[in-house]
Order: sequence, then structure tokens, then C-alpha cells
Amino acid sequence: MISDTIAAISTSTAGTGAISIIRVSGDDSIGIVNRVFPFKDLKKEKSHTIHYGHITCPDSGVKIDEVLVMLMKGPRSFTTEDVVEINCHGGAFVTKRILELLLTYGARHAHPGEFTKRAFLNGRIDLSNAEAIMDIIEAKSNHSLALAFNSLDGKVTRLINKLRKELLEIIAIIEVNIDYPEYDEVEEMTNEILLPKAITIENSMKKLLSTAKTGQLLKNGIKTAIIGRPNVGKSSLLNQLMREEKAIVTDIAGTTRDTVEGFVNIGGLTLNLIDTAGIRKTRDIVESIGVEKSRRLISEAELILLVLDASESLTAEDKELLDLTACKNRIIILNKSDLGQKISSDGITKYVLTSMTEDKGISQLEDEIKLLFEIKDITADETYISNTRHIAKLNQAMESVNSAIIQMGSGIPIDMIELDLKNSWSHLGEILGENTADSLIDELFTKFCLGK
Ligand code: GDP
Repeated sequence: MISDTIAAISTSTAGTGAISIIRVSGDDSIGIVNRVFPFKDLKKEKSHTIHYGHITCPDSGVKIDEVLVMLMKGPRSFTTEDVVEINCHGGAFVTKRILELLLTYGARHAHPGEFTKRAFLNGRIDLSNAEAIMDIIEAKSNHSLALAFNSLDGKVTRLINKLRKELLEIIAIIEVNIDYPEYDEVEEMTNEILLPKAITIENSMKKLLSTAKTGQLLKNGIKTAIIGRPNVGKSSLLNQLMREEKAIVTDIAGTTRDTVEGFVNIGGLTLNLIDTAGIRKTRDIVESIGVEKSRRLISEAELILLVLDASESLTAEDKELLDLTACKNRIIILNKSDLGQKISSDGITKYVLTSMTEDKGISQLEDEIKLLFEIKDITADETYISNTRHIAKLNQAMESVNSAIIQMGSGIPIDMIELDLKNSWSHLGEILGENTADSLIDELFTKFCLGK
């Protein structure tokens, strides 16, 4: 199959860096790069070698940049096609200029995710690996990175393949039974023999699905609001969290008009904070964020950190916030514990005692969050499933096995049961991208970044 040659900037185009990488992939990638890098005949060079030289405009002969060119001949490349990567200086202008030259001399600008899509279509990776690449790029904490890497490393693929193999073994024996009932050496498949095998498969699926909740929380983070009346220590808590694990707080314009979101890591958990700017703002203009606004934050959040001042008695506003959050996933933080505990614990049965000035209580807070969301510590030998599409497919696969199990109990003919098992097998295959509709594949890859 002849593929056109695609090119894109693979490094971030958001700002200036020391180095940029332009990636080129396809049948004519070496030829096209050679037109703008004329000092060596790259076709004659060995694969997996690096070449120093200059990008030069073929028409004018003007040198544009000093670069290193990496040669990775197919099939030993990311896309399995001939891939050339140009490491140039990291300025936005020079990088774009080189890309333009490549496009002028025969390459086509790649769509978002097109390199990875080619790797998938050429059988280099399966769909779950491709999705893991995106998850690695988007990972915000050690845990989410570890989950994504394990998936890229094939942990999910191996487990899905194992389940499919077990299903296929039963399907194969059923088929032989149906086609050649007269063969003595073929084990006769009765529901009594099938049932325990199907139950074992269902249990493995259940076990994998039981990791989904933790997996998703670790991957996506927990939408969190820090609320409390002025001066109780909300922004101090935020600052404290920002120091933990060198968290990055980026202000992303939220969908709601005056909401600003960011994230912090607390231990291995990611908290997606709603309205971090609001918290910071209260410090400067010393105004209450107001009960109305709290109400909105409370309704949006999956987790509420309600900060109270331990050294003062409860105020009417505290009580109102306690009432408003009573039915939510809430952790009450009694801050300023270093100033003594005057707050009456009426109605406050569970709380975390903190002192932001003495750095106390953050690890207890992490433990409480884990307890509240039933997040188990992740272990190296367990495989976690965190991708929504995988979870949905695995659920469908389990439902099919479950339907087979129910039918086995009611004496339904064996070939009817086979259909359910086959359905389960193909749902699992879709996780890896088998028989997946082109439209879905196209949609998945458009979510990738350009140049990936
Ligand atoms: P916010 O208005 O809720 O965001 O409160 P701030 O975080 O701005 O804190 C108000 C004041 O209380 C500041 O002067 C902080 O230094 C102080 N503060 C915050 N946490 C503690 C604490 O745990 N102990 C003591 N003694 N002071 C604290």
C-alpha cells in the first residue's frame, strides 16, 4: 500500500523552546527531506542514524537552519513507514518555515493524531495502546502516568487477549461439538462443563471492572471546591497543596463565566480545583465568596473541602455551609489547630485537623479523600482500566457472558449460548480496535494533538 507523506511539528507550538522536532512519515519522507537537506544521500544511509547539516531552500540555495536529521526506515519506526525527524532550533518561526518547505516539496500537513493512527492501521500498536499514548501526554500525576504507561506497555492488551483466548477455547469446543457430534475424542460440551468456565471468565471481567473506579478517579482527577467563610485559611490550604509534589496550577478559562480551574496533586491524587482564582481573590479584597456562589460551586463539585476555623466558635455562615454540603462528598477541615480548638463539634463528627502555618494535616486529608472515594492504593501487579470506552466495552462483554451463564442454567441449546460468547469475544476485540467502525477510529484520533 502506498501512503502519502505527512509532516507536522511534533513539539509544542505554544511557545519558544531550545529545540523543535518536525516529523515526516510516508513512502517519500526520505526523498522529500533530502530535497531540503541536500548534503548527504539519506537513502544510502543506514536506518536509525543521525545526520548533521543544514536545511536549505532548494530554489535559492539559502541556508535556513542548522539541524540534526534522524532517519528511521520502515518497518522499524513508530508508524512502520519511513520516518524522518528533523531537530531544528526551537523558535516558532524557524520551525514553521522548515515545515512550509517540506509541504512545498511534496509532504502533506498531517491531521491531529495521524502518525499514531498510521501506527494503529499498520498494526504496530492496538487501539488501547494508541489511547494510552494520549493518556501519557495528558497525565497530571504519578498515578495517572503509571496507569497510562502500563496500558501502553501492553498490560491491558495482555489481559484482554487472555480473556479472549479463554472465550475462544470454549467457543471452539462448542463448534466442534455442533459440527462433529460423532467424534469420540471430542469432549462433549454440556452446560455443566461450560458453566464453571464461563463463571471464571465473568469473575476475571468483574475483577478488572472493579479497578475502573479507582482508575478513572486517578486518571481524571476529582472535581473539587474549597469553600469556607473569609479568613479561615482557604488560600493557605491552596498554597499548601500547591507546594505538595510541585503541583502545577494552570488557570484555564472555565466554561462558566467567572470560574477558573486548575489542578493540584495531593499524594498520587489529582484534585481538579474549581475556582482557584476565587479563593486567591478573597485574600486580596477580603470579601466573602458569598453563599450564592458557594451554592453553585457545591453543586458542580464531586468533592467539597469545607474549611472552618478551629480556634473560633461556629458562625451562622459556617452553619449554613455545613447544611448546604451535608449531602455531598464533603471533608470538613478544622484549620488553625495551632491556635487551640474552640469550635464546638456539634454536628461535626468527622473532620481533619490541620494547621497551615505548621504544615499539619495534609497527609490525613489525602487519606480521608481516598477513604471517601474508596480509592485503593494502586499495586504494581494489578491491571487498571481507566478509559471510558474500554470500561463500556468490558461491561458489554461481561453482560454477554452473564447472559450465557443464565441460559446455561435454563437448558437452552448450546448453539444459542455460543452466540453470546461470540458477542463477548467481539466486544473485547473492540477494546483493541478490532472490527471498530472507521468513523469511531477517525473520531478517536482527532482528539490527539497535532504531530502525534
Ligand atoms: P482565606 O480567606 O480563607 O483564603 O484565608 P487565608 O488563607 O487568606 O488565611 C487568613 C489568615 O489566616 C492569614 O493571615 C493566614 O496566614 C492565617 N492562617 C491560615 N491558616 C492558618 C493556620 O493554620 N494557623 C494560623 N495560626 N494561621 C493561619
